[in-house]
Amino acid sequence: MTTRIGVIAMQGDVEEHVIALEKTLAERGALGEVIKIKYRGIVRSCDALVIPGGESTTIGRLMQRENILSEIKTAVEEREIPILGTCAGLVLLAREGDDEVAKTGQPLLGLMDVKVKRNAFGRQRESFETLLKMNIFEEPFPAVFIRAPSITHVAEHVEVLATFDEHVVATQQENILALAFHPELTEDRRIHHYFLDLV
Ligand code: GLN
Repeated sequence: MTTRIGVIAMQGDVEEHVIALEKTLAERGALGEVIKIKYRGIVRSCDALVIPGGESTTIGRLMQRENILSEIKTAVEEREIPILGTCAGLVLLAREGDDEVAKTGQPLLGLMDVKVKRNAFGRQRESFETLLKMNIFEEPFPAVFIRAPSITHVAEHVEVLATFDEHVVATQQENILALAFHPELTEDRRIHHYFLDLV
């Protein structure tokens, strides 16, 4: 079976995810293809989706303009395909945002029952890398944070996969995986493998 993984390609680090996913498929010896989604009508043929990091306001508005928000919701809610959101992608997956999100009126997919705070780490810690303990791996994960959001509220059925400095930074709700950091920016592909295991 060929797995078709769609990367939402409105803005942000699309290419990095495409490369990481292609390398992950090759490492698994799995038949698959990674496609970039810029227009409506493609999501329905995908077996898994990724929303990259970037600017969540921009990505959200472009997804709305292209009318693919509802396509993504249908694919995840009705076909239960796995979806991974990193950084801005996490913001877009959330059920609820902070005041900044409300102010900009950016559309959210609302697929994961968490509340997010944009740019939660402040100026001093705008970008940093840390070895993050995650409860799905034995060894810590090299996590790159860039103007990262944090998760400020987690519903009961959402599993916390990692915290950093008392911020929740990774969660999973069934097939939905949300990370405040960027696994596509390192050569450590354990998260991409973990994600493809869900397919
Ligand atoms: N600060 C960005 C946002 O909230 C996210 C940054 C990122 O994806 N690296 O949209």
